[in-house]
Amino acid sequence: MSTVGSESNPLRVAIIGAGPTGFYTAEHLFKQKDYVVEVDMFERLPVPFGLVRYGVAPDHQKIKSVTKVYDRIAQKPGFRFFGNVELGRDLSVADLRNYYHQIVYTTGAQSDRQLGIPGEELAGSLPATEFVAWYNGHPDYRDYEVDLSGMRAAVVGVGNVAMDVARLLCRAPEELRQTDMADYAIEALSQSNIKEVYILGRRGPAQAAFTTPEVKELGQMADADCYVLPEEAALDALSEAALSASADRATMKKVEVIQSYAGRELTGKSRRLTLRFLASPTELFGDGNGRVQSMRLVKNELYKTEAGTLRPRATDQFEELEVDLVFRAIGYRGKPLPGVPFYDNWGVILNKEGRVLDSETNEPVLGQYTGGWIKRGPSGVIGTNKPDALETVKHMLADLAADQILSPSQTNAEAIVALVAERQPYYFTYADWLKLDEIERARGAEHGRPRVKFTDVDEMLAAVGKR
Ligand code: NAP
Repeated sequence: MSTVGSESNPLRVAIIGAGPTGFYTAEHLFKQKDYVVEVDMFERLPVPFGLVRYGVAPDHQKIKSVTKVYDRIAQKPGFRFFGNVELGRDLSVADLRNYYHQIVYTTGAQSDRQLGIPGEELAGSLPATEFVAWYNGHPDYRDYEVDLSGMRAAVVGVGNVAMDVARLLCRAPEELRQTDMADYAIEALSQSNIKEVYILGRRGPAQAAFTTPEVKELGQMADADCYVLPEEAALDALSEAALSASADRATMKKVEVIQSYAGRELTGKSRRLTLRFLASPTELFGDGNGRVQSMRLVKNELYKTEAGTLRPRATDQFEELEVDLVFRAIGYRGKPLPGVPFYDNWGVILNKEGRVLDSETNEPVLGQYTGGWIKRGPSGVIGTNKPDALETVKHMLADLAADQILSPSQTNAEAIVALVAERQPYYFTYADWLKLDEIERARGAEHGRPRVKFTDVDEMLAAVGKR
């Protein structure tokens, strides 16, 4: 039995990434009763909450209230936050091994998947992930350029990210001004010329990945009509049969909402959102300046795989769609972390149920774990990461009980503070974040908004008196 985990010798854990999974991991570690645990959470940005702050749509504030739970976790004795500290820039895995018994990577999925079609590299063809980071005021994307002078945009994919992007392209300026969207994005979107937004699903309505509340919301926009071609809203025979056999009520409801938009009368709102199904882009075409001006779409049909799922297959029917902007919203993808085994095919850290595996031996790497999207891929809602984190924490505790932990040379909690201060003197503590949070909220209150975000790291540092 290890003596680590006692009052005099607490289990010291480093969590890399301050998104939802990082906090749920800390929560599970604090909740168990067998060991005394100290958690240091490292985040490359000064501020915490990852996808909640920079991914969740600014017009979905209720979802963001989950941060109250994270605030409570951050108040637990034994928890510390080190913002503006990046693995690979300020600290290495080798450094962490000197200070912690266990290391958990919860860095999410920060990149995007590609369509792999000709013309994808043209100007105006953008990953939805970057557009989302831009409108949410992510410091890395504040100078990102989105040309909204054209009239037509296509969003490829029918997941909830596609819904967010399409909805925000169609929000009226007065709606945007009530949110915590970055000021520059409110400005740009308020002057946008986009009048027509197509959302392109490669399969049919019954296979759409978005959820019912999200598609319902499209039909309730203040200044945009939502429309579906009647022939594309109708289910094909295979989908019809699969749906009635499964009796899946949630999907039935979703299909019902989609079909309620079929052939809807336009009401004269300024913008139109058109949901398309069984349609895949096969090529993007540019104008003389290398900007997207149209796309070729192929009509798909569905076929049943041996596993019983319905997959799309191209037919020989094509159409051309004029578009000035194309957002691919076909899934996020994880980025490798320096010194951590990565499984490139899936864009995740190589792991089994959260235990990091060695790339060569496929055996667990002592003391290293992962959780959330960088562990299992970009799926599920925020709450899905809670049980995911629990699975990892159970393995961490089992390994501790079996004495399978790292042997750091420095176990005094203050030692790492000295190292961080040396490598990154402008690190953020949780108290710094709470101060910044208060300032952002106060700036928002002046305008009836939830907050006005800082989008520049130097300004964040200056606001709390670090520079
Ligand atoms: P997602 O739910 O996995 O949806 C991806 C979409 O892209 C699917 O419609 C998929 O179609 C399509 N797609 C994939 N490859 C394609 C290709 N080559 N060509 C055309 N379409 C393609 O991913 P997401 O929208 O990025 O969302 C990620 C996760 O975050 C999801 O779990 C989502 O629910 C969650 N999220 C939730 C909210 C919310 O709760 N409001 C908001 C945003 C995100 P197929 O099904 O045919 O593969």
